[in-house]
Amino acid sequence: MIENGKSSQQLIKESNLRLVFRLIHKHGTISRADIKKITGLSATTVSSLVEELIDEGLVNECGIKNSNTSGRKAVLMQVCPDGGYFVGIDIQKSQIVADVYALDFTSVFHITVPVVSGENLAMGIMHSIGAASRGRRIFGITIGLPGVIDPESNTLVSSTVLHAEDAADIYTTVSDAMPQTKVYIKNNSGLIAYAEKEFGTHGLSNNLVSIDIDDGVGAGILIDGAIYDGGGMAGEFGHISVDYHGKRCQCGNYGCLELVASLPAILEKTGCYCINQLRDKLDSGDDAMVNAIDDVAKALAFGINNIVNLIDPESVVIGGSIRALGAHLLEPLKKYFDEIALIKNKTIEYSVLECNPVTIGGARFAFDGMFGA
Ligand SMILES: [Zn+2]
Repeated sequence: MIENGKSSQQLIKESNLRLVFRLIHKHGTISRADIKKITGLSATTVSSLVEELIDEGLVNECGIKNSNTSGRKAVLMQVCPDGGYFVGIDIQKSQIVADVYALDFTSVFHITVPVVSGENLAMGIMHSIGAASRGRRIFGITIGLPGVIDPESNTLVSSTVLHAEDAADIYTTVSDAMPQTKVYIKNNSGLIAYAEKEFGTHGLSNNLVSIDIDDGVGAGILIDGAIYDGGGMAGEFGHISVDYHGKRCQCGNYGCLELVASLPAILEKTGCYCINQLRDKLDSGDDAMVNAIDDVAKALAFGINNIVNLIDPESVVIGGSIRALGAHLLEPLKKYFDEIALIKNKTIEYSVLECNPVTIGGARFAFDGMFGA
């Protein structure tokens, strides 16, 4: 068992305490008087809440602000980045990625653990958590999985990337080993959408769809700022059919988008061994490559149009290694989209996130779970 002292839920159970912490976090630096003004809480209440946060090591006094009205000096408060940490875990086909984020969301630790075929996934995850939490007070952990997660049992129901049975005991193993820490298990695409909202420049809206194109094709849906999971399988964008005469997919459907637009599908079609080689060929104007990517762009445009017709997000953000193709993919995609869309010029952009969006989205999700969104 990994001990982290007082549990994260016990630590900050009071809503006013969460409110004050969030305010300090949001503002960077703020005085007690300004907290009082914004929250409407009494000066005594603010002082005692701030005192409690200082005692917990979550905030500290960091300087003096000169008030221009009264001439009085006010002490400024700031969050202690190292007052606690959140862990985001990204389970991929061949590796487990874990990142530890401080309270200001700087990454302080990173580890990747290979997924060994036939080996229990939960063991690999515990290994990464053990390394990540060494000497740190971990407030929350979010595990992102590529697949459908049953929100009741917190188990992976199905996945075209992982074997569900390999992942069956992830939640119970981690939460039993870390009883003081809140553990979440979420679909990885939903966490990417969450990361776009919090940290992406295109995704500052609360209603957005993020499409991730790597080994698979997934979509994260954010409605009014919250991840929309549906019954657990919302966002299985890769399994929208773009050709019902097409090849049969692992999921049972025919002509799934994933069979056309996932990275393995694109590389197989173009005969390239990696995305950078493909980009180089596109850069040099290779006609066969340009035509192949034109087909991919068209399939994606039809898929995105289905989503837009259904939920009309403010923006569609495309992330993953596919971004290496740059304008070679995005320009024809937008062109086809505008040809078929009811409303033209929807914002369709590449993600600008350079960090791992699953781990930072997961860390932020656990942070909001503890401190309130
Ligand atoms: Zn499918």
